[in-house]
Amino acid sequence: MIRMGLSSWHRHWKQGQKQQQADVPCGTCTLCCRCWDAMPLTEEEADSGIYDSHVDKALNAKVLNRQENGHCTYLQDERCTIYSHRPQACRLFDCRVYQVLPLEWFAHITPAVQALKENAAQRFELVTKEPSDATFHVRMKQAAEVVSQRTHSTISASAVLHQMQP
Ligand code: SF4
Ligand code: SF4
Repeated sequence: MIRMGLSSWHRHWKQGQKQQQADVPCGTCTLCCRCWDAMPLTEEEADSGIYDSHVDKALNAKVLNRQENGHCTYLQDERCTIYSHRPQACRLFDCRVYQVLPLEWFAHITPAVQALKENAAQRFELVTKEPSDATFHVRMKQAAEVVSQRTHSTISASAVLHQMQP
């Protein structure tokens, strides 16, 4: 299990989002490729026509297709077959966010969200060890309140974390 301080993880997350590359030590885990049912494409990616995808009516966006077993269409033999040009959503995905934000904040708690939270809790231990960790939760709650007033519906983990920037 990898231990990291909460605020240190948040700094790490912000840097990854800026660099368009979440640096998650996934090892051989492919859970998000197997369980996430709606990996969305950006408009540019959708327009490129190179991804095997369909329109998700609920999201009003194109998402990657899935195999019959629910795995991403590009997951073969436990590996991503388009890793070097996988969509932005895959590059930015950091399952640890589900460990940080209470599930009750999400309007739609799916089995996938639950599985990602459990997986993240088994792999990564986010601890309070830095002085800035003490203020992290307060800022996070304030950000969640702002986001929930703005959206009046689903609170997305990324929206809360983006609200906390810089
Ligand atoms: S669920 Fe987390 S650890 Fe597993 S592949 Fe996805 S981002 Fe990596
Ligand atoms: S495109 Fe690759 S990284 Fe993205 S969900 Fe599919 S298999 Fe996983």
